Amino acid sequence: MDIDNNDIVQQFASDNYSGICPEAWQAMESANRGSATSYGDDPWTAQASNAFRELFETECEVFFVFNGTAANSLALASLCQSYHGVICCDQAHVETDECGAPEFFSNGSKLLVAQGVNGKLMPASIPELATRRQDIHFPKPRVVTITQPTETGRLYSLEEIRAISAACKAHGLLLHMDGARFANACASLRCSPAELAWKSGVDVLCFGGTKNGMAVGEAVLFFDKALAIDFDYRCKQAGQLASKMRFLAAPWVGMLESGAWLANAEHANKCARYFSEKVAGIPNITIASPADANTVFLEAANDILERLRARGWKFYTFIGGAARFMFSWDTDLSRVDDLLRDLKECAA
Ligand SMILES: *Cc1c(COP(=O)(O)O)cnc(C)c1O
Repeated sequence: MDIDNNDIVQQFASDNYSGICPEAWQAMESANRGSATSYGDDPWTAQASNAFRELFETECEVFFVFNGTAANSLALASLCQSYHGVICCDQAHVETDECGAPEFFSNGSKLLVAQGVNGKLMPASIPELATRRQDIHFPKPRVVTITQPTETGRLYSLEEIRAISAACKAHGLLLHMDGARFANACASLRCSPAELAWKSGVDVLCFGGTKNGMAVGEAVLFFDKALAIDFDYRCKQAGQLASKMRFLAAPWVGMLESGAWLANAEHANKCARYFSEKVAGIPNITIASPADANTVFLEAANDILERLRARGWKFYTFIGGAARFMFSWDTDLSRVDDLLRDLKECAA
């Protein structure tokens, strides 16, 4: 092997550019000492599930899948019949970035898209979409899904989630949360995972591990056990049941028991705040979306962004046009300073 990751300079295009954090890596290594029963019937999977129950202070049902698209779309599919509808905001990952997987795995449940504000679903959109059509010719609304933090890096406050939950309850709808960066939300809002999930009315949560410092893997948590019935079959059919499940589960043990899940998120958020504070003083660049969690979106003239790209920086502009910079558990602040210096020079 002649690839050395140390030769690859750090970029901030996505938090999934990061490597595996030491706690997850070490747990993988411990799980690799010998053999274990397959398909989740192993001590690591039991321990990881219990660690989630402890963290969330409740006896939830826990499943481990490979990625966020599967977590979201299988969770939504399990809450819906094929004739149901899923209310989401126009910037939701399930709508814009999952290649139709929620519709595919649910055999046709339709996403009912509301225009969001700052990437957030407004509580008022729920009664609006839930009652717009009540005839047999339109899919029956069944679930609301929200992303916390949103695709544009904004946070729903606890009050906002509770308002959404109240609207769901008023219309007989279930509430799903895409928590690809749930840890960053907990870190930023300084609230417990329980408060941010089931205590605020979330029925099913997809808790992201990949962007939090693991190699791969997301957890799907059902706070109402009845909703989890047969979810294991759904995972298997979708090709999401890991035969060597201990390697999906063990990193969670490492992350949750050490507290790395939260420390990693705190570091990422801190780097985003640092970047955002420094960038605020640079002329010709404006912050399009404040650093609620670990993401900062910048607006700048195209030639500025082109110059930045020419200097080798990678960043995405496909989400709403602004340039996205994301920070992760392994963000090196001196590399952030390099970016700031280049931004300043390119914008001058
Ligand atoms: C990254 C991400 C996911 C998961 O994406 P995968 O690439 O399928 O793992 C889900 N939702 C949001 C908001 C994300 O940013």
